[in-house]
This record gives sequence, C-alpha cells and structure tokens, in this order.
Amino acid sequence: MTALASSASPASNAKRTNLLGLSRDQMEAFFVSIGEKKFRATQMMKWIHHEGCDNFDAMTNLSKPLRTRLAEVAEIQGPSVVYEGASKDGTRKWVLEVEGGSYVETVLIPSENGSRRTLCVSSQVGCTLDCSFCSTGKQGFQRNLTAAEIIGQVWVASRSAGPRKDGISRPVTNVVMMGMGEPLLNYDNVVPAMKLMLDDTAYGLSKRRVTLSTSGVVPMIDKLGDELDVSLAISLHAANDELRNELVPLNRKYNIRALLDACQRYLAKGAERRVVTIEYTLIKDVNDQQAHAEQLAALLKELPCKINLIPFNPFPHSGYETPSRNQAMRFQQWLYDLGYTAPIRMTRGDDIDAACGQLVGRVKDKTRRHERYIQSIQIDAD
Ligand code: SAH
Ligand code: SF4
Repeated sequence: MTALASSASPASNAKRTNLLGLSRDQMEAFFVSIGEKKFRATQMMKWIHHEGCDNFDAMTNLSKPLRTRLAEVAEIQGPSVVYEGASKDGTRKWVLEVEGGSYVETVLIPSENGSRRTLCVSSQVGCTLDCSFCSTGKQGFQRNLTAAEIIGQVWVASRSAGPRKDGISRPVTNVVMMGMGEPLLNYDNVVPAMKLMLDDTAYGLSKRRVTLSTSGVVPMIDKLGDELDVSLAISLHAANDELRNELVPLNRKYNIRALLDACQRYLAKGAERRVVTIEYTLIKDVNDQQAHAEQLAALLKELPCKINLIPFNPFPHSGYETPSRNQAMRFQQWLYDLGYTAPIRMTRGDDIDAACGQLVGRVKDKTRRHERYIQSIQIDAD
C-alpha cells in the first residue's frame, strides 16, 4: 500500500498510478491515499471496466476538482492495439503493444452456437518453461505482463463492443489464461487481474467461467487455491513421467503424482463440486496410441476431471506432427470405452494464426520488428 500511496503523490514528475490493473482493494487504497472516500473505487471501476472509459474528464459523477486531481496523479493506460483481425469462423484477434516494445496477442473465440465468447489471455511475453511442442516456449522469455496489461486484454476486447449496457449480452463471457506464458509464474500480476474478471464492478464473470491453465507449478496451485476458486486446467499431455519429462520439462521438478495430488487439494478447497480440466495435446506417434489412452484413463481414475483433446498445432521446425483426424477419433473412442467423454477441441481462428498454442510473437529481433510483424500478420489475415 505504501507503494501506491507514494506513486499517487502529486509531486511533479512522480509516475502516475495506472488505475486499469488495480483490484478493488487496491483501488480503495488508492483513493484513501489521495484523501478520498473508499466508495470512489466502485465509481471508478465501473467507468473503466463497464464503460471502457480512459478519460477522467468524461467521468461526470466525479467533481471537477477530483477529476483534475486524478489527471495529475493517475492514468488509465490500456495496451495499444496495433492490429485487429477477424477470421471466417468469427474468431477475433488483437495484437497489443505493451511497454518496452513487446507484443502480446489476445483472441476471442465464439462457441458454435454463439452463446459463449471465450477470450484467451496471455500472462507473459514468452515463457521460461520451454515445453517441446509449444511455439511460445521456443520463443524464450522476455518478461512478465503487469496486472494492467493482463486485464487490459479483457478491457480491449470488451471495449471493442462499446459501453456495456444492462440487458445487452457481454462481449466476453469466458476467460481462459491460455495465451502466452505460464500464469502461475506471474502470480502477483495474474491474481489481481483475475480478481477484476470476477468482480461485479469490473467484468463480473462467474468463477466457473474463468479458467487458469498451468503446466503444473505445484506450490503455486496450492497458493492459488488459498486465494481464488477459479476453474483449473492442467496441461498434462502425457500419462507417464518419462514422456512428460520430455514434453513438459517442468515435470522433472513436479512429477505427475505431485501434480495430481495438488489438483485434489485444489478441488477440496473449492466451495462447489468442481472438476479439473485435463488438457491433452495429441501429437502423432508420440502420445496418440492406444496404450497412452489406457494409461491416461488409469491415471485419472481418482480425479474428478474432464479431458480435452487438442490436436497439435504445427509450427515450423517443431519436429512434431498432427495426428490424422481418424487417429484423433480413435484415441477419443479408446477413452470413451474406458469411461471418458473427451471432446476434441477444434482449432479455431486458424486463418489469423490465432489457434491455441500459436500465440507467438513472431519477430524476435529488434530490427524493424514492428513493421515486419504487422506485415506478416496481415498476410495471415487475408
Ligand atoms: N502455460 C500454460 C498456459 C498457456 S499454453 C500451460 O501450459 O497450460 C495453453 C495450452 O496450449 C496448453 O495446454 C498448452 O499445452 C497448449 N499448447 C501449447 N502449444 C501447443 C501446440 N503447438 N498445439 C496444441 N496445443 C498447444
Ligand atoms: Fe509455457 Fe505453457 Fe508453452 Fe509450456 S505450454 S512453454 S508452460 S506457454
């Protein structure tokens, strides 16, 4: 709180506090720090997150002197949109430039019947974990996103539909932390952002509709369970340690048993009857055989869960291939025979390179990277 108070100081040249990423508690602390009442936090959050407003002058229920003061000590700084595209299947994608010249991508994926619009949100630029089948991992790690940059993705996507009005459907109905990065390795920024997703004065999504996906940072799963009760997805991809060590190197630190135990503890803390989502990327001849399906079913016997099968999304030089559709369906059938109904999650937004696991900043060198980046994605979007 001290940090907030000092950054909110009106001293000239002091860095302004970016209100976009503040959770309710932090927003209240900010207003108290500038000598205002706590309830201002609710007003401000509604302006920012319901109305998509980033201009204090437009906040007509705040007095003129307060608006002037806010302009001195604070700002509402969203990520800047450098590209916005829509694919034939209705998927929309934004490329956002964040401080320091990095890019992150966020994708809004409509369900077949249009009732759900799921936003896939990034938590880091790149990733440290280097899973062998993931293009983000291959890109290396640049930095953690701030809370403002994380919630900024929801803000940009929601804002594109105009101010929220009661009775009108929400532009974003679900959020999955499945974009770039490992959210549990950026815990301190991810948690305030997720709190905003759930908060009624921000996005008001139910905790079932907000999912954190992790490759298995066991101690942080426990920590998350103490603080939030969002849906949990686990990137499992292999049902034995030998294979998982190869695909998800983090498994050498936290093996499958430790991970599944953490899932059980997480579920036990939740208020309602919940299940964990198990993500299983199907890779040709690597983890798509009958023995793998049998191992997977045996492994998950004790865990309340549902399995999502995701055909591997190829990228250059990955060394892996996507199984045929028939093979994916065979794998699904083997699981079905063993008592699991596992949907095959279809790749969406392929024509704008927005499919899961494809959220990669393509241009790694700093040379003209902005320009070349825009060119490359515009070609994809054609
Ligand atoms: N770091 C987190 C969340 C981001 S990755 C995690 O690993 O869970 C989101 C999902 O996409 C994960 O399940 C990941 O395993 C999967 N994924 C990554 N690369 C993929 C690819 N090339 N094809 C299919 N799925 C992929
Ligand atoms: Fe990181 Fe997830 Fe990709 Fe693994 S799959 S490298 S944890 S983003």
